[in-house]
Amino acid sequence: MKEIVVATANPGKLREIKDALQGMEVLIVSLTDLSSISPIPIEIDEDGKTFRENALKKARVVAQLTNRLTIADDSGLEVDYLNGNPGVRSARFAGEEASDADNNRKLLQLMEGIPAPQRGAFFRCVIAIVDPQGKEAWVEGGCRGVIGDSERGGQGFGYDPLFILPELNKTLAELPIEVKNRVSHRGKALAALKGVLGEFLWSQS
Ligand code: IMP
Repeated sequence: MKEIVVATANPGKLREIKDALQGMEVLIVSLTDLSSISPIPIEIDEDGKTFRENALKKARVVAQLTNRLTIADDSGLEVDYLNGNPGVRSARFAGEEASDADNNRKLLQLMEGIPAPQRGAFFRCVIAIVDPQGKEAWVEGGCRGVIGDSERGGQGFGYDPLFILPELNKTLAELPIEVKNRVSHRGKALAALKGVLGEFLWSQS
């Protein structure tokens, strides 16, 4: 079976990627699975100004280090009221070492008292695919929602408990993984990835 390395240390992203690609006759290998081939720098400096730059950077570094076909996801939350922030800084919104809980607390504080019509937000995900010979592509997915005024749901990760899908009146954290993958930014990017994956897998030995 052909292998694809997923260049992420985020277990939430890895779970969703594995779920979406099941049935594709590919073996998904995480950086942790490959740690015996160290040194693999799990911490790649995400200094790009866009999700695309960061996703391509992560995929290029890991494809070279592992000599394997690699995909990398860079994603984040763009809040209308915050002029598109936290954006590419979503993981570090409340500080360099911030946890999901810290980031959610900061978001809730900044949005306190803001009325529903001004609580719109967009989740964006770019997935880059790079092979060791340097062939590369990227795909994107997005998802519109509203920032809730308290956390709801225990599934997912990151900002999921605060991101309400108006059409379902549920947060992403209230959805089982297969439903999240049908509607989310990452699910849509992964659906697009399936369209280009074949031509990458075909050229791998
Ligand atoms: P990065 O792509 O690793 O730089 O970080 C993405 C950050 O955006 C995560 O740490 C989360 O805070 C947030 N994020 C991205 N995708 C999701 C998602 O599907 N649900 C909730 N938060 C997400």
